[in-house]
Amino acid sequence: MRPGWVDFKTIKVKITMETVLSHYDVRLRRVGADEFRGKCPLPTHSSRSSNDSFSVSFTRNAWSCQSSSCIAARSGHVGGNVFDFVAEMERCSIREAAVRLQHSLTENPRPPVTSTRKDSDTYPPENRPLRFALRNVDHRHPYVALRGVNEQTARHFGIGHGNGFLSGRVVIPIHNEHAELVAYSGRAIDQTEPKYRLPRGFRKSHVLFNLHRVLDRHDRTLIVVEGFFDTFKIHQAGYPNVAALMGSRLSHRQAELIGSYFDTVVFMLDGDEAGKAGTTAARTALSSILEVETVELAAGAQPDILPLEEINQVLGGFARDVSTRDR
Ligand SMILES: [Zn+2]
Repeated sequence: MRPGWVDFKTIKVKITMETVLSHYDVRLRRVGADEFRGKCPLPTHSSRSSNDSFSVSFTRNAWSCQSSSCIAARSGHVGGNVFDFVAEMERCSIREAAVRLQHSLTENPRPPVTSTRKDSDTYPPENRPLRFALRNVDHRHPYVALRGVNEQTARHFGIGHGNGFLSGRVVIPIHNEHAELVAYSGRAIDQTEPKYRLPRGFRKSHVLFNLHRVLDRHDRTLIVVEGFFDTFKIHQAGYPNVAALMGSRLSHRQAELIGSYFDTVVFMLDGDEAGKAGTTAARTALSSILEVETVELAAGAQPDILPLEEINQVLGGFARDVSTRDR
């Protein structure tokens, strides 16, 4: 096996929440058809009063802890999958958790050991959830329509003409994979620079725009585009399993996110040099982890300006895959 190679797909299939919980000797009791509860085993758990806050679904291979101090200590994450659980237990990154789980699958099992690293080594600063949400966003602003986004799509994504500090721009709410609002991007509606305004310190490389909505759908295939408006148009064309890099280069963190949640990824980046280079780099980064498909657009083409028929032409085959995989 190549060093550094992590087979997320196999790990997901082979290692269940049940296996992981028994490894850590976590005992839960059944409280519903597919719900088990008990004392939270995570190192982030400090509350002594919440004895029953940890719950697991074995069919969904998912866990959560409802203790508010525990959630806060996990940067607001309520729960997650097998990878998230091991990452929390071992205070390591998702990728490191996957490496540990992979070791436990090989002939010479090396069980997860307590990390000696400091948190700061393995946890890069995350985007903190915002403590506010903009009100009175106008979803019917002419700029949105001008870009070919209909009102229904605008409402779905919460985009529209902003107010307050983003007055005069179209605001685009950005969430992390746990559906927490972490930033607003403000798109200029005229020639004002910068074209997109993002909060200082916001790490777009930590986020895949719209990923939380795709995760909600439990799709196994993800379509990846570059920008916000590409996402809106591909969604509007009937492909809701779409997320954006917010650029043309896949980051390490974005690769981890894709690797831990999907079986197939379809890259549909812009038909320019940056898009082509981004596609090649993404294929190299991901092809040992999951199925990578690519859609090459003609020179100068980009998803947000493609006619509907063309979108269907290039994505139709993958969409059929989505529906058969889901059944
Ligand atoms: Zn907890």
